[in-house]
Amino acid sequence: AKQRGRNSFQFYTKDINSQTYRQLILENELVKALAREEFEIYYQPQVELDTGRVVGAEALLRWRHPEKGIQPPANFIAIAEETGLIEGLGLWVIQQVCEDLYRLGGDGNGQPRIAINLSARQFRQADLVDQYRTVIRETGIDPGKLELELTESTIMKDIDIAVGMFQQLHALGVRLAIDDFGTGYSSLNNLKHFPIDTLKIDRSFVRDIPGDNDDSAIVTAIVAMAKSLQLEVVAEGVESREQLEFLRRLGCEIVQGYYYSEPLPFDDFRKLLNGWTVEA
Ligand code: C2E
Ligand code: CA
Ligand code: CA
Ligand code: CA
Repeated sequence: AKQRGRNSFQFYTKDINSQTYRQLILENELVKALAREEFEIYYQPQVELDTGRVVGAEALLRWRHPEKGIQPPANFIAIAEETGLIEGLGLWVIQQVCEDLYRLGGDGNGQPRIAINLSARQFRQADLVDQYRTVIRETGIDPGKLELELTESTIMKDIDIAVGMFQQLHALGVRLAIDDFGTGYSSLNNLKHFPIDTLKIDRSFVRDIPGDNDDSAIVTAIVAMAKSLQLEVVAEGVESREQLEFLRRLGCEIVQGYYYSEPLPFDDFRKLLNGWTVEA
């Protein structure tokens, strides 16, 4: 194991496997990070193709680590999920997003719609709906401006529980989206039981359009299906003009990806909303 100058721990690292050891350190750091408010929400704009308007954003969590700098979720979400810290972190996320929505509303351009990711563990959290209800009430934001993103695999773990959960969340007035659509194994037959507003086409299908025939066929089918079910469809991971034009021809309404913008700190997202529309 790599020693990082913490000599007092050397004795123990001989016995504990270094993977477990690193996880313990990380868990410890995450607890402190939450208390010290080292987390930050970045917002990745979602652009309506018809108008070029930024209609919303996906909230993406970052950890501003005091030494290592900005950390993406891949470096800490799994541990937060395993240790249960995700529940406290998730509460912080919804509170922060609602505060930010409130501030954006004050700018006078109307509130955009903000999508929040929910992990499998959060989705099974007994007090999740109460938490959301309380935060929405306290901040006074329009729940229709919040969209919750759940992956197919989270939903399919236990369909009966998921249906009940979706109904309760839907009753709060929030929008519901299926994230990474196409990567799971849900059948349409299952999905029809869910009060869904939006399908998000997974980046893995968008990456190789229009060149790859299989991916192009899949994306075409998803957009057509979403339209016939009257669901909104958002394509994620759009990086090129070619991808954008292909999606536009299919009638995909909203796109998100580096082509327009990476996830932005709140202040930059706010400037974007107040200053300009992008060229679609
Ligand atoms: P996701 O929900 O699939 O989010 C999309 C990911 O794709 C984000 O990575 C985003 O930065 C990245 N992305 C967006 N556009 C492009 C593009 O054009 N090209 C490429 N190559 N990538 C693009 P990020 O921010 O690292 O987030 C990773 C995952 O972490 C998310 O995947 C989501 O599952 C999870 N996550 C993020 N924030 C939260 C949170 O607040 N709570 C929970 N539970 N999970 C979160
Ligand atoms: Ca997502
Ligand atoms: Ca996704
Ligand atoms: Ca993903």
